[in-house]
Amino acid sequence: MRLDVVTIFPEYLDPLRHALLGRAIERGILEVGVHNLRDWAHDVHKSVDDTPFGGGPGMVMKPEVWGPALDDVVALTGPAAADGVLDSALPHVPATVPEQVSAQDRGEDAAAASDGDRRPVLVVPTPGGAPFTQDTAQRWSGEDRLVFACGRYEGIDQRVFDDAAQRYRVEEVSLGDYVLIGGEVAVLVMAEAVVRLIPGVLGNRRSHEEDSFQDGLLEGPAYTKPRVWRDLEVPAVLTSGDHGKVDRWRRDQALLRTARQRPDLIEAARARGDLDRQDLGVLGE
Ligand code: SAM
Repeated sequence: MRLDVVTIFPEYLDPLRHALLGRAIERGILEVGVHNLRDWAHDVHKSVDDTPFGGGPGMVMKPEVWGPALDDVVALTGPAAADGVLDSALPHVPATVPEQVSAQDRGEDAAAASDGDRRPVLVVPTPGGAPFTQDTAQRWSGEDRLVFACGRYEGIDQRVFDDAAQRYRVEEVSLGDYVLIGGEVAVLVMAEAVVRLIPGVLGNRRSHEEDSFQDGLLEGPAYTKPRVWRDLEVPAVLTSGDHGKVDRWRRDQALLRTARQRPDLIEAARARGDLDRQDLGVLGE
């Protein structure tokens, strides 16, 4: 997968070179291009914003700067061609591919994610977008290319996205019901959520298959050694060696935590018919 990010703060995206994402870069699973929007600004001040039509506070990002930037990033021409890709922040490790993913599988994933439309997805982080969820991350993890447009100030002139729809599949997404200062942090969040789902990025595929939201529920509590810590004991079932009982206990804990923190998810699971008699019994208790 290739990620491109257009921003006025390229250094903000440095975390994309670290930890699991850095390792994915080293393994050739991930490429990341970060582009400074000001490379497409032409006045002496390299300005990227102007006052809003209709009046009001704040500034709006200019279409004459964003338009050419997105044209170049999709085609990897102009300043976008010169930007290169991030290298991993990790010390060099011998290239090992833990889980072989055939080019054919990747192609099928991408085709399935896009319904055969091979235009890159242009991700526009905005409080006015559809909620970004695990389903979104799962869907995007099968894409070949994602391009992120980081807004600042009052956001980006809407015509940029109306026009970009000729070259991109545009998706406006929100991280939640609050307002950030800019889109960069939202991009870091989304990139982590997406990249960890690409086959081969996590050492153990089960790690994300058992995560919260994968089956519509929150994951229950986790414990490690020692068995007793500050007089607090690990639940006995986890040291029983009985895998059936452990699975049932984990399911019960997931149901109870979800009912407590996110009753809306329990209702959705009930409506989908995902809860059996035993599950409903646990919730009833
Ligand atoms: N005037 C905009 C509004 O009220 O919808 C808020 C603009 S915000 C100060 C600047 C930028 O931060 C946005 O263009 C977007 O890129 C990013 N941003 C802010 N909140 C966000 C959220 N909840 N989800 C995703 N991106 C967000």
